[in-house]
Amino acid sequence: MNKPLLSVIVPSFNEEQNVEPFYFALKEVLDQSHYRFEVIYIDDGSSDSTLSLLQRLSTWHPQVNYISFTRNFGKEAAILAGFQHSKGDCVIVIDADLQHPVEMIHELLDGYEEGYDQVIACRNRKGDNFVKTALSKVYYKLINKVVDVQLEDGAGDFRLLSRRAVDALLILSEGNRFSKGLFSWIGFDQKVVHYENVSRQNGESKWSIQKLINYGIDGIVSFNLKPLRICFYMGGMILLAALAYILVMLTQIVRTGIDVPGYFTIISAVLFLGGIQLLSLGIIGEYIGRIYNETKKRPHYLVKESNATKGKRYERIQ
Ligand code: UDP
Ligand code: MG
Repeated sequence: MNKPLLSVIVPSFNEEQNVEPFYFALKEVLDQSHYRFEVIYIDDGSSDSTLSLLQRLSTWHPQVNYISFTRNFGKEAAILAGFQHSKGDCVIVIDADLQHPVEMIHELLDGYEEGYDQVIACRNRKGDNFVKTALSKVYYKLINKVVDVQLEDGAGDFRLLSRRAVDALLILSEGNRFSKGLFSWIGFDQKVVHYENVSRQNGESKWSIQKLINYGIDGIVSFNLKPLRICFYMGGMILLAALAYILVMLTQIVRTGIDVPGYFTIISAVLFLGGIQLLSLGIIGEYIGRIYNETKKRPHYLVKESNATKGKRYERIQ
């Protein structure tokens, strides 16, 4: 009975083809380890038979817990629900679609036993399309210059966290949860292990271009106020340039008499300034929108049905 307990959190949204194959692959790996385990599936408002499959699986396998949301609240909310219900000494977050190789769990557990609080499984981008790879490279280069926490390309949610790292995450109560940033923000000793990218076997990826762009913006705005400072500098530089231009024009007018610079100069100045102003307003708006959302203090998710109970430690934190 003194074996350590491992909680495995599996966000699942329309994964009817993967629920069972994933569980059996996972079970095979975990049976080889010296850990007791519980699996917490989060049915994130699936419209297919994911929930009924989970209900069936859990009647036969007592290690299987599920939490079913009233609608799709997103992967971040699903991960949070998993953390709140986890009771393990360590917790692993893994996708249901078998894109995260379950055999890596051995390496994650090795890292945990070496004393690391976060063991991060980092994928390469083999098999991804070229444009996506190039764009994400540029994005991560840029974002790491702008934000205060370090984000790594390929290091997603697939990772192991020790109990104290999970407890630290649970103290952060923000409504808009950008997990990647939160994982990095809490710190602790981290180890990175690498694995080969695997393509999805069944079902479809839930990431549309629009979702990816929103995720990109979240990454920048969730963690710092630097975009606002950039607006400030931009305004300052334009003001200086405008002053210099006015001075030049003034001296010309004084030296050579009245001169009308013309349509082109005026229209370029109006359009340029209009663009900068709208951009700055947009950035300010992003922050105000976030403040608005946070002030509502709505729960991160609503549960339709579940056979999981909240972790004792989590109840204590609340
Ligand atoms: N997922 C979720 N809620 C969502 C979208 C995705 O719980 O709104 C789950 C999904 O079932 C999968 C994991 O998050 O287990 C990763 O999703 P996906 O495979 O679509 O992302 P990708 O692997 O393409 O990054
Ligand atoms: Mg996937």
